[in-house]
Amino acid sequence: MTNIADWLIPCLRQVQVLKQTNSLSHALLVTGADGVGQEELANEMVKDLMCESDQAAACGNCHSCQLMRAETHPDFRILDGQAGTIKVDQVRLLVRQISQKPQVGQNKVVLITHAQAMNINAANAVLKALEEPADRTYFVLTSSQSTSLLPTIRSRCLLVNVPTPNTHEVKQWLLKQDDGEALSSLFWLTTQPFRLSAIQKQGKAQLYASLPNQLTDLLRGTVSVSAVLKGADNSNIEDYCNGLAAILHQCIYHSTGAPIDPALQGIYDTLIARLGIQTLILRYQALQKLKSDLQKTNLNPIMQLTHELNQW
Ligand SMILES: [Zn+2]
Repeated sequence: MTNIADWLIPCLRQVQVLKQTNSLSHALLVTGADGVGQEELANEMVKDLMCESDQAAACGNCHSCQLMRAETHPDFRILDGQAGTIKVDQVRLLVRQISQKPQVGQNKVVLITHAQAMNINAANAVLKALEEPADRTYFVLTSSQSTSLLPTIRSRCLLVNVPTPNTHEVKQWLLKQDDGEALSSLFWLTTQPFRLSAIQKQGKAQLYASLPNQLTDLLRGTVSVSAVLKGADNSNIEDYCNGLAAILHQCIYHSTGAPIDPALQGIYDTLIARLGIQTLILRYQALQKLKSDLQKTNLNPIMQLTHELNQW
């Protein structure tokens, strides 16, 4: 068994058993909440499907397994919706490529991640491919918004629903990751395990981890807004907005009686005393608007965020 997150294992086993008994549907849709590991699970399923051995899990040794490891397998194609809208030409090209006989093993696999990014024409092209399945060709789709997919696509897929892990499971999983332990301190931001690990891979964990202390100092008047935003630039301004919005969200949530991360308690006390809950909600909304306006080129986002923080 590959070393994957514990909560993904039952889903993977389910598909492995179906594969081994030759009863696997030619289309799978992996669903679940954002960041719970749909893509990681789908990648493992794809490896199992591409393996030439007749065992349930990928053997890791056959020619197909080696090509998958080198990311050069000619019978495997991927479309990633995270990179932007998936268009019909991309799907048609991929369906054409995959319609040939397998070049290496027995199976061919198309993986479409974040499948909700397919536009309607692309979705119809996928539907057509699912309606006329080529021999030993599998489609694996992932989506955290599966209800926005065409119902006719959903109904042709075996649904694999990834459960949402609880915070204890996420903590245990983080302990096994390189430098993952420190990420538990970011639970005020998110408890989505793969979002946390993406933040770390992007080198942004420190940016987020330092925000509560910096904000505390700002509210105490010991540092200036420009000092808090010293490291901000166009590449990370969205992260500052995300982090600050998450802190305000936690404070608003806490005002209804929910527990708050101890690192945010002082911030909550100060902001409630200074602004009151109604203004706090307005500041949260303003921050969300600023975030959605970031793409507008006529804005100076750092100036905008400075103006926002001056009102806290
Ligand atoms: Zn193999």
